[in-house]
Amino acid sequence: ATPLGLMNGTGRGAKQGILISGPEVLESTRRVDTIVLDKTGTVTTGELSLQEVIPSAGVATEEVLRLAGAVENASEHPIARAIADGTRERLGELGEVEDFHNTAGHGVAGVVDGIRVTVGRVSQFSDEELTADLVAARREAERNRSTVVAVAWEGAVRGLIAVADTIKPSSAVAVSELKKLGLRPILLTGDNQTVAQIVAREVGIDEVIAEVMPEDKMAKIKELQEAGHVVAMVGDGINDAAALAQADLGIAMGTGTDVAMAASDMTLVRGDLTVAVTAIRLARRTLRNIK
Ligand code: ADP
Ligand code: MG
Repeated sequence: ATPLGLMNGTGRGAKQGILISGPEVLESTRRVDTIVLDKTGTVTTGELSLQEVIPSAGVATEEVLRLAGAVENASEHPIARAIADGTRERLGELGEVEDFHNTAGHGVAGVVDGIRVTVGRVSQFSDEELTADLVAARREAERNRSTVVAVAWEGAVRGLIAVADTIKPSSAVAVSELKKLGLRPILLTGDNQTVAQIVAREVGIDEVIAEVMPEDKMAKIKELQEAGHVVAMVGDGINDAAALAQADLGIAMGTGTDVAMAASDMTLVRGDLTVAVTAIRLARRTLRNIK
């Protein structure tokens, strides 16, 4: 990547912490009318922490945590890190996991002490697999803006774990500035509707596309493009890479994964959304000066 500053000859872009892949990026930046924002790690810090462990009737809280923590310890996902770290804090050492599997956008599975354990998306389990008390507990946790995952073994959901992160203080300011620039912000996430809506409302985004599988994020960008929009996408994760590449302007958080940065046209070194606003302003101003 070369610094945005190259384009206006002052190095101003680089000083602001904006890296771009080439001068042609300037043109797409200027034409953008829609900006799709990933939730976790982009609008929020992405540093999740364990909030609550809810066992189903007859199951010990510690058992849910012990099994889930051991499996999640093998995953790099922010949810996994929150659960593994939270387990270590509460129970000490984590157990061994065998036959570990990770399904992007769904969750993880593995064998702990001979028990096959699954941790992941609650929506992959049917209502019959969830007891009424767990359904109610889930709703309550989501209303508190937590992301809830299910912990299942031996054919049933044995408990829920709620994790949450914080919204970056800069996100609401950035969204309001993006709107002033005439851009239409959309929140895109694999997380559930309730949490997505709450986060969107808190930062001033009116449109939400939630519960999207990683492989479908790109298709959502394409749909917007086919409707005639010039689309910027801001993301940080491996699961955002294809969408970042598809977007007319892919913007990666410098605090995110290398894969996301490699797929992008622009990287915000500090991972701060207000810098995306600066980039768009700079691009518009620079082109005006050239013309
Ligand atoms: P986002 O778009 O918010 O970055 P992902 O696409 O990575 O989210 O994940 C979507 C959903 O899949 C999560 O909200 C969670 O329910 C589930 N999930 C993914 N990875 C894991 C994991 N390691 N442990 C538990 N649940 C997971
Ligand atoms: Mg993310």
